[in-house]
Amino acid sequence: MPDSTSTTPTDSYVRKGFGLKAEVQDTLAADYTGHLVDLLRAREYALEVGDTTVRLAREFGFCYGVERAVDYAYQTRRKFPERRIFLAGEIIHNPHVNEKLREMGVVFLAASGKGFDYAPVRPEDVVILPAFGVTIQDFQVLRERGCVVVDTTCGSVLNVWKRVEAYARDGFTSLIHGKYYHEETRATASQVEKYGAGQYLVVRDMGEAELVMDYLEAQAGGTPPRAPLSRAAFLEKFAVAASDGFDPDVHLARIGVANQTTMLARESLAIGAAVGEAMARARGAAYRDANFRTFDTICSATQDRQDAVAELLREPLDLMVVVGGYNSSNTISLAALCAEQVPTYHIADPDEIDVDGNGVRYRRIDKHHHEDTMQPWLPTAGVLRVGITAGASTPNNKIGDAVARIFAIRGVDPAGIR
Ligand code: SF4
Repeated sequence: MPDSTSTTPTDSYVRKGFGLKAEVQDTLAADYTGHLVDLLRAREYALEVGDTTVRLAREFGFCYGVERAVDYAYQTRRKFPERRIFLAGEIIHNPHVNEKLREMGVVFLAASGKGFDYAPVRPEDVVILPAFGVTIQDFQVLRERGCVVVDTTCGSVLNVWKRVEAYARDGFTSLIHGKYYHEETRATASQVEKYGAGQYLVVRDMGEAELVMDYLEAQAGGTPPRAPLSRAAFLEKFAVAASDGFDPDVHLARIGVANQTTMLARESLAIGAAVGEAMARARGAAYRDANFRTFDTICSATQDRQDAVAELLREPLDLMVVVGGYNSSNTISLAALCAEQVPTYHIADPDEIDVDGNGVRYRRIDKHHHEDTMQPWLPTAGVLRVGITAGASTPNNKIGDAVARIFAIRGVDPAGIR
């Protein structure tokens, strides 16, 4: 198997599918397309029946990376009908898609430490790697197993890996805006280990980035805007979000910023700019120019979906529904954008909408992300304008089902919408 950023296929390492796209196309269409979404597209992304209008963001749902990963998983099943097929974690963060793969006999490997438990895998087996990628340690274990590996890591994720690898090669600590526990960020962070002394630090949001900025300013003898953490408190705060051996007194001297591809783009850009400014305040502009780098590694699909929802929010809307897995980072970013402007309901699946009881179960868009319910949910009379969007891992049939349920609560038979 080539290294984790190579795209060279071998018999046991497959990155470009098996040429069976045509053979699996009908199954994919049956499993994931949705009539109401097709109709929304055909009607300029709006369906109006009586007093009820549903408007769909112009970019939504499956992204190119997810389409490819799901396609390759189906191709793999078709190619190896008799072999045991494993998946390192979830192919994408959507419960419906993962369930379909389970029904096809794909076995999901459990998480273990920073990677997955490959103990059940034998050389004659096949292992599919998800769109988020896996760590370089996972690649090493799989190479030793000698099984067939179908690598669906998205090209946009590979671009981030290259960036982080270059930071490590050049002696920069990678400051990654992401979630330290997310599969993609774990895989991205592991790239620093290609160079013995490579270091990383993951910050979840601007608040955590400010802790880093304050520390580096104080360390350089400056006066940061806020009281900095002590070294011990800093290490404790980032204990699970930093590389082994990370020392803030040493490893904040040279910083390269990157991001998990699905974060809120606006916040990622702000963090990159603010850290550069903090370094300039701490050590001067010339030092910053030589020892600070930042690249926006938000993927274009994430950016397009965030831009489209911002455009949709300029319309008069009473509420937004955002469909996508509760562990889907890009869905969470979309829901956060919507919640700034209108009441927003992030639902993992259309089943969360109870038509008969006019209720909804959703994930709160606050710090704690608890699940909550609302009943009654929608007014059953009067004008109602609902906006809808979906994360990059949500199939169209699930979006269409959510639209159908919204209309049904409003007394409109979705089957009659043509
Ligand atoms: S969200 Fe972006 S990085 Fe992730 S799979 Fe889709 S296109 Fe690739």
